[in-house]
Amino acid sequence: MDQRLTPTAPTLRPSVAAGAHSDAEGRLVALSTLVEDLNTDGAGRRAPTVVDGYDTESSLVQARLGIATSLYASLRWKHEPTAQHCLRTALSASGWAELMNLPSAVRDEIELAALLHDIGKIGVLDSILSKPGALNAQEAAIMECHWLMGEQILRGSCASQGVIDIVRYTRGWFDGKRGHVDRHGDDLPLGARMLAVVDAFDSMTTDHVFRRAMSVERAFDELYRCAGTQFDPDLVAVFSKLFESDPLAMQAAAARRWLSELLPEVIEAQWRRGQMTGTQALPSTNSMFQQRLIESMHDGVIFVDANLQVLQWNHGAERLTGIPGKGILSSTFLPSTIGMADEHQSPIGDKNCPLAQAVREGVQWVRRLHINGRGGRPTAVDAQAVPVVDDQGLVVGLTLQLHDVSDEISLEERCQNLHDMATQDPMTKVANRAEFDRVLAEFVKAHRDTKRPCSLIMTDIDRFKTINDTYGHQAGDEVIKSIANMLKTFCRSGDLVARYGGEEFVLLCADCDNATAAKRAEEVRVAFSLVKHASLGQRCVTASFGVTEIQPGDTPETMIRRADRALFQAKETGRNRVVQLGVGGDAPAEDNRITATSKKRLAGNMLLKREMTSDSPLERNIEKLKGFVADHHAEILLTDRNRVQLRIGGDRGGPLFKRQSDRTIRLIIDLAIHEESFAPENNPRALFKRTRITAMISPVKSRERRTAASMERARQLVASLRSYLMATDVDGVEAVTEDAGGGLWQSVMSLFGGGTPVAFGADERE
Ligand code: GH3
Ligand code: MG
Ligand code: MG
Repeated sequence: MDQRLTPTAPTLRPSVAAGAHSDAEGRLVALSTLVEDLNTDGAGRRAPTVVDGYDTESSLVQARLGIATSLYASLRWKHEPTAQHCLRTALSASGWAELMNLPSAVRDEIELAALLHDIGKIGVLDSILSKPGALNAQEAAIMECHWLMGEQILRGSCASQGVIDIVRYTRGWFDGKRGHVDRHGDDLPLGARMLAVVDAFDSMTTDHVFRRAMSVERAFDELYRCAGTQFDPDLVAVFSKLFESDPLAMQAAAARRWLSELLPEVIEAQWRRGQMTGTQALPSTNSMFQQRLIESMHDGVIFVDANLQVLQWNHGAERLTGIPGKGILSSTFLPSTIGMADEHQSPIGDKNCPLAQAVREGVQWVRRLHINGRGGRPTAVDAQAVPVVDDQGLVVGLTLQLHDVSDEISLEERCQNLHDMATQDPMTKVANRAEFDRVLAEFVKAHRDTKRPCSLIMTDIDRFKTINDTYGHQAGDEVIKSIANMLKTFCRSGDLVARYGGEEFVLLCADCDNATAAKRAEEVRVAFSLVKHASLGQRCVTASFGVTEIQPGDTPETMIRRADRALFQAKETGRNRVVQLGVGGDAPAEDNRITATSKKRLAGNMLLKREMTSDSPLERNIEKLKGFVADHHAEILLTDRNRVQLRIGGDRGGPLFKRQSDRTIRLIIDLAIHEESFAPENNPRALFKRTRITAMISPVKSRERRTAASMERARQLVASLRSYLMATDVDGVEAVTEDAGGGLWQSVMSLFGGGTPVAFGADERE
């Protein structure tokens, strides 16, 4: 076949693909005719090809190379057989890539690399290229240089590192023994390993001035002989199988695609236009080190130029995004490329590209983003974009580093979920009972240590059973959520809202006294009572509130019970109101004095004895004592004339006595209560009444007498009693003492449900 050109031939015809798709059909017809009429001369020796004739050749080249067609044309002028070899190789390699289902981006690179892999032969002397016999050592060395020249020519015009890499590594042997490149085996780009096979096969099956074409069979024998040394053995096997099943299929498929499917954007994408960087020298040692570092980094590293064209896409970026670097280099980076979303996982539109913004403003940023990771899995990354500025201060591009934080996030999330499950009420999303108990215990401890005030608001929806009965449980649930949300909106920093039970909630108010807490409760009450509930057909609902402030001697338990009593009173007195109980921070301070004399005076098992007076009459103190007994869950062991004996602690303390000592220490409080009449010094004629209380505390078990925990608990109880009664300690006051008589007994028993006074035997203590 004579494929020599007429002298005017290098003016190739306008590209079919570059816009004129209209005659693609006609070309395909011509192509299939060509394929059918394929000259079978030499069949079995020369490998079949679809490239028979100048027109087909030029159409194919132009369809594939677009503006870079001139490169091919130059090679054709230089050495026509080499150019044609390149075209056949490119078609075969492309068809092969197609049959291997390689991504189109990879296939595009293989096609271009194959078409131009011998472009460096432009720089080889004609005398060498056309020498009929074997080359001498010097000629062979010059010939060998064509790879380097080819690489340099491509660097000047080709924007795709993938193409350049394939050209560079095609000369490398699979076993790394020859070819003078820094990679071998599977580290050689796949395209380079494929091209090496196709290149050799076409060369072997073509006539040269220095060697006649081998038969296809012989050529395959040769490929197999060199499989594992020069060639990738797996690829040799695949190629021979595909070729033997249909020798033309690979080339024909590629040719058809080039002529009919290639879009101008695809053709031109790989070529630099209007941004020539000049022919680069071979990489310096420094840049080789930098490249090595970037490639070995676990983080994704992406470089883009000022037009956001991708210049670098390291292995880390491939691993993170699942997008091969070779497929994305030279394309424009868009947020959608990697499915970029902001920290709240809202997708970032291509128009709001944060990289474009950094280039525009020259300002770096660090932020949490989400991207589509491998297999579309959303992946959280910490992203840092740093603009790169040239000597003139112009932003020439930027570096983007992506650090995968999905593992940390999922761990954080898992911990958060576990924490939420343990501390949150699932329906209302406020704290659950357990979390409230924990925080309240902390508040009480903080009060003991630093006297920091805190208050507790307890609320319960009024007549809620009726709501459930009338509107159903689901509607009831909506009302429960509504009061939870209302309480949340009234929360201050440091406060805690918790669901205490069904439709009962608590608001723990940090650094808040009784009066303020009551005011806040009143605000919540009013606000809640005005809410029109859609689930109840716009009906309003009310709630009742109990409020109390922590006071000396309180345990978490006493505080809750006091708030609960206040809530009960609110219900009892008509609902939809706030009731406040307790003396709060105004309570008399705890007295820790234990003098040597007072110790000496203590009889038997007694831990502590205190005399105190309250300025209110006996009647009122009985009321207050009732609160003390109720909130401490005290058991009345004995009431007799002016004496009351209580047992406190043990298992009755309930779950809030977190400390072992609080739970197990059981104490007996003996109270002697007298009403006194006295005349103040400044007014001897007046006669006032006050109550004198003597409290003696002993352990239930005598062996607990000396433990520090028992003493601490005893002091705490005295402090609590002092708070409840608003009493102050006294050292023996001379006064006329009136016996409280049966009055005390009567009132205590009636207030606590009455009954026969319990006789208290000594054996019960042990
Ligand atoms: P009061 O004014 O005295 O508080 O009357 P009440 O009807 O609200 O009485 P109470 O507080 O004792 O009743 C609470 C009711 O709340 C009983 C229970 O059926 C209902 N309840 C408890 N938890 C839930 C819940 O999660 N959802 C719904 N819908 N109802 C609940
Ligand atoms: Mg209720
Ligand atoms: Mg209730």
